[in-house]
Amino acid sequence: MLSAQAMLALDRARLNTEITRHRDDHLNALVEQASDVILIIDEDDRIRYASPSARILLGTSALSGASLVDLVDSSERRQAGYLLRYARSTDASAVDGGSRADWTLHAADGRTVRVEVSCRDLRTDESIHGVVVTLRDVTNQRRLEHELTRRLFRDTLTGLPNRLFFDERVSEAIAADAGVTGVLLVDLDNFRAINEALGRETGDAVLQTVAARLRDTAGGFLTARVGGNEFAVLAANVAGVEIVDEVAVRLTDALAGPIFGDGDMLSCTASIGVATTMNAGTAEELLRHADLALDAAKAAGRGTWRRYDPSTSTAVSYRLELRSALRQALQDEALIVEYQPIVALDTGRMAGLEALVRWRHPTRGVLSPGEFIGIAEESGLITPIGDWVLATAIHDALEWQPTGPGSYPYVSVNVSVQQFRSSGFVDTVHRLLSEARLPPARLVLEITESLLLRDDDKVWNDLKRLRQLGIRMAIDDFGTGYSALGYLRQVPLDIVKLDRIFISTMASSTRQRELVRGIVQLTRTLGLTVVAEGIETEHQRAISHSIGCGYGQGYLFARPMSHRDAIAWTAPATGSTD
Ligand code: C2E
Ligand code: MG
Ligand code: MG
Repeated sequence: MLSAQAMLALDRARLNTEITRHRDDHLNALVEQASDVILIIDEDDRIRYASPSARILLGTSALSGASLVDLVDSSERRQAGYLLRYARSTDASAVDGGSRADWTLHAADGRTVRVEVSCRDLRTDESIHGVVVTLRDVTNQRRLEHELTRRLFRDTLTGLPNRLFFDERVSEAIAADAGVTGVLLVDLDNFRAINEALGRETGDAVLQTVAARLRDTAGGFLTARVGGNEFAVLAANVAGVEIVDEVAVRLTDALAGPIFGDGDMLSCTASIGVATTMNAGTAEELLRHADLALDAAKAAGRGTWRRYDPSTSTAVSYRLELRSALRQALQDEALIVEYQPIVALDTGRMAGLEALVRWRHPTRGVLSPGEFIGIAEESGLITPIGDWVLATAIHDALEWQPTGPGSYPYVSVNVSVQQFRSSGFVDTVHRLLSEARLPPARLVLEITESLLLRDDDKVWNDLKRLRQLGIRMAIDDFGTGYSALGYLRQVPLDIVKLDRIFISTMASSTRQRELVRGIVQLTRTLGLTVVAEGIETEHQRAISHSIGCGYGQGYLFARPMSHRDAIAWTAPATGSTD
């Protein structure tokens, strides 16, 4: 019985040893196969144990007794010591996975390796009694990561940092808040033309030349390529605004010089927008200001630079906002046409109505043409807008009642120079009239003196064609533009609309009145009808009539009104016998 028990005890002990041996073998196998290096560190940061893989990573596995911190690159030793101390602190044990970092180690064979380090405090573990440090070789991984970030932050064509990198540095500079920070946005004026005319290869070469010039001229300030043909320079935390301005001058000059390549000589000037932290508190604001300044520089002509000016910025950004909203307005049918009567000054009978466009802006209320016609002209939207007004006016005029037996009011439509010169304008007018079946005699087109400024056969011919169709032509705002009375003799016209400046000054100045009388007499001898614009008072009406104006338009008679009101206005008065 005893012997049986003894046998059993002996067996159990054997079994235990066997199990332990197995377990150790298994562990050893794991440790031995792992490319990760496992170190056990003593209380004084000396290595007690190093796994065999240390030979591969560190060039030797004979590390017993060596100080771990001494293997670390001198620049990182302090952090390394700190990490080991931290691993032994109670805070670290709370962190899942222990404490981690990246170290650069010097291997025994002279190589430098980058390792990811993780530490685990196992001092209380019976079998370990120390801090376990695992080193994983991440040299290639980090190199790849570095290369990727380099690519992520660099423009491949010019080798300059890109927008991502630049924006980050701007934020950093502002955060540092150690002086004035300036951003200079550089836009190549005629790059697109060069690219289109000479091909992409030349375009690329120009960009490379420009990049090099900018970098050399920026004098150590960060230079980046932030867009297709846009570059930027960051003057971070300098002593004053003057320094930023100096950079702008230097850059403008540097780019004014010609670019030579392949026997060609090109000129690719730049417009530069400058903004500084004197007016901006955040990176976004600073960059936005630089953009606005760039717009101002471009508007001022090529090869110039402008510093952001707070007083013009709201105007500029407002215009930009309107420009994009206007495109939408045309689609959303947010434009409306109002009509203002033109009346005979003797009888007061309405002869026609002028179509005046308005824009029902979603947030800014109803905008008058003075607030958006300029923008429409800049952006080329004036032609579709003008065509739409023309179509609407022709359509609306169909509903107007005759003001006398067989006499219908005409509709007078403003046509801007761009629209008039757009291809197929005359055909469009003709088509719209035919489709609506509105007699051409009921349409007047108002043009301005600027259309007649240049000797242009096409304009001349188109005017003639329109008149041959039976449409009448009026010259608007007469007297304000170039006041060349001579052309009244030659140009095929029907109506002259005297600008309201004459009407308002005539009442107070007899000299002015005689001058205007002269003009009116001349136009009448040429067979032209005269409409006095902007008649606001009875006195003005009387004078206008006395000097020979047949017709008038103004608040005295009626303000511009909706199409509905215009129908009511044209309807014969109740009780009329017509
Ligand atoms: P305009 O062709 O000379 O039109 C007359 C302008 O004088 C209108 O301004 C009208 O509201 C205003 N007005 C009329 N009577 C009086 C008055 O007694 N006193 C004063 N102070 N003003 C008076 P509005 O509607 O603001 O239009 C301004 C200009 O915008 C027009 O001047 C015209 O040149 C342009 N415009 C309007 N609609 C169009 C359009 O559809 N196409 C184009 N290209 N231009 C348009
Ligand atoms: Mg007009
Ligand atoms: Mg006018």
